[in-house]
Amino acid sequence: MTFLTRFAPSPTGPLHLGHAYSALLASDIAKAESGQFLLRIEDIDQSRSRQHWEDQIYNELTWLGLTWPKPVVRQSDRMGVYDQALDRLWGQGFLFPCTCNRKDIAAAASAPQEGAPMHGPDGIIYPGTCRKAHQDKDLRQHPRPRNEPLRLDIAKACQAIHDQSRFQFIELGSGPDGETGTITFTPDELINTIGDVVLSRRDMGTSYHLSVVLDDAAQGITHVVRGQDLFEATRIHVLLQALLDFPTPAYLHHDLIRDETGKRLAKRDDARAISKYRAEGHSPADIRRLVGL
Ligand code: GLU
Repeated sequence: MTFLTRFAPSPTGPLHLGHAYSALLASDIAKAESGQFLLRIEDIDQSRSRQHWEDQIYNELTWLGLTWPKPVVRQSDRMGVYDQALDRLWGQGFLFPCTCNRKDIAAAASAPQEGAPMHGPDGIIYPGTCRKAHQDKDLRQHPRPRNEPLRLDIAKACQAIHDQSRFQFIELGSGPDGETGTITFTPDELINTIGDVVLSRRDMGTSYHLSVVLDDAAQGITHVVRGQDLFEATRIHVLLQALLDFPTPAYLHHDLIRDETGKRLAKRDDARAISKYRAEGHSPADIRRLVGL
């Protein structure tokens, strides 16, 4: 099997040391495996994505010594693909529209009978308000709403997967608690620790989870190398791969870069922007040393 991996930054701010680590590691492993390293621009959030950040990504990765095939895939060019997948999932009855705002969700999730609100990869686990409101309707008979968020009915989705071997993935790195090897999970775990995730956001027409799964499949990614902060979201991606009949790639979640005190670097830590190190005269070899490669 050809080894194909990718680095998938969002052009919503400067690249920092954490990004450099992820990109260099993915590229190094691809080289060691005689495989290929791809770059993908994850710009579905058009309210925050900027061309100058995208240009800076190309510039800084090139400065770091990375190369990738061109043209690169940009998610904003693939909205039609995401739309078709949503049509398919809607037609299968797996989606429902949700009009709850953050406050509604927090209030419903902390209602006395629900116990304390639990957190999943996307925040408070959705208490199911809109799903319950729609449960007696066959939503498939109605056109898919275009301007409302759509959530995945996770229990229904799990029920549709009969091959239990789809509820697992291979972890070549490790999760935050050292999880490694074959990671298995059950439908109940998905229902209780993830809940009905949003697959189409308002004003976006898609979501990170849906787009990443569709793009990794379309590009034939065999190994996903990314930070441990996305380990918990992987089960959502594996479920979507099963629903959409895609293979599940292997995952390698890497440790997050920490500062001198051991604190995880925030996603946006401008103090550790690559541009700052460059301006101070550091070399690409210095960056490699700083991230431990
Ligand atoms: N675009 C995501 C981010 O910048 C990364 C997605 C992924 O690697 O799966 O955090």
